[in-house]
Amino acid sequence: MKSPVDLLLNLPGVTVAGCSQIEGFICFHLKILTQEIDCPHCGQSTKELHQIRPIIVRDLPACGQPVYLKIPRRNFYCRHCQKYITERLDFLNWRRQYTKRYEENIYQRVVHNNVEQISREEGLTPEQIEGIFKLVSSYVKKKDWEQVERISMDEVSKRKGHRDFVTVVSDVERGGLIEVIDSHKQQEIISVLKQQPIDVRAVVKEVSVDLWGGFPKIIKEVFPNAVIVFDRFHVMKLVNERLNKIRRLVGVKAQGSKYLLLKNQVNLTESEKVELDAILNQSACLRIAYEMKEELREIYEISKTVKSGMKRLEKWLVQAQVFYGKTAQTIREHKQGICNYFISRTTSGVMEGINNKIKLIMRLGYGLHKFDTLRSRLLACC
Ligand SMILES: [Zn+2]
Repeated sequence: MKSPVDLLLNLPGVTVAGCSQIEGFICFHLKILTQEIDCPHCGQSTKELHQIRPIIVRDLPACGQPVYLKIPRRNFYCRHCQKYITERLDFLNWRRQYTKRYEENIYQRVVHNNVEQISREEGLTPEQIEGIFKLVSSYVKKKDWEQVERISMDEVSKRKGHRDFVTVVSDVERGGLIEVIDSHKQQEIISVLKQQPIDVRAVVKEVSVDLWGGFPKIIKEVFPNAVIVFDRFHVMKLVNERLNKIRRLVGVKAQGSKYLLLKNQVNLTESEKVELDAILNQSACLRIAYEMKEELREIYEISKTVKSGMKRLEKWLVQAQVFYGKTAQTIREHKQGICNYFISRTTSGVMEGINNKIKLIMRLGYGLHKFDTLRSRLLACC
């Protein structure tokens, strides 16, 4: 029968043979129950003990006291292979100074807390915590690229107001972050994404992006079977910006006029409709530009195929050229990618929540200094 201390310890294959208190810590002296191990090379069991060297590892605290385990590290000899074998224990990762459950506990806490705080609580250095976090994240949550058909790519600035970007890749269907790249440069993004095997990349059918010039080349090189989809909301944002510029050009300055112009017509209240009408009466030019904005939104709403969407968009562009100038030109240059939206109505909408989380984590820093630790953390959280 297990002793009360063994029940408390709750680790397989070992028993507590003794206990000591050192400098405010509890140290359990463990004994391994089995006499033999299976040779990892030939599978035969061996009892031939060559050497025992005790190691001390950190474990979860017990009754409010930090706990260390003194464990005999056993070295056996396999006659069959003529090799020395060091025993591996299930509750310890290879060559670590902490139990697995201790490292996993630290990992969980790093996901939600500041590293400095954990460092104070546990008496570990921030480097030790980063090391633990990195190790556990390598096996706890592998981000799954398998069978990802629709993805979204975007860039997020590391710090507010800085032109220092990371590139963020998300799974549109499942809504999770699948990669963060410490770069905004085409070639660097390509080389990171190409680390995914080709059969994984070949599954991707659509990639939703904004109108940044670098994305088409990346998509073409990395995802051989994907079409580019220029995100609907980024396109509408461009049009709205231009509409607001026209408003200023024609001298409409009434308070709330920008809001009323940019708001979707279908969402206007009765009193807002009256207000907007008064604003549009001030300028025929603004009225047409406004109607064109709404027409484009309508095209997005009603078109069911790429072909019908394209037909409507081309018709729209003829008139838009006059009022939307450069913006219309940009849309014309990207029209195929814009109309690819109608394949399966893919947008980057999923990115918004993810991007906000990423910004929060990056700006707080949480005391993670190395990018790959930050990346692991982002992949675990978003
Ligand atoms: Zn062997």
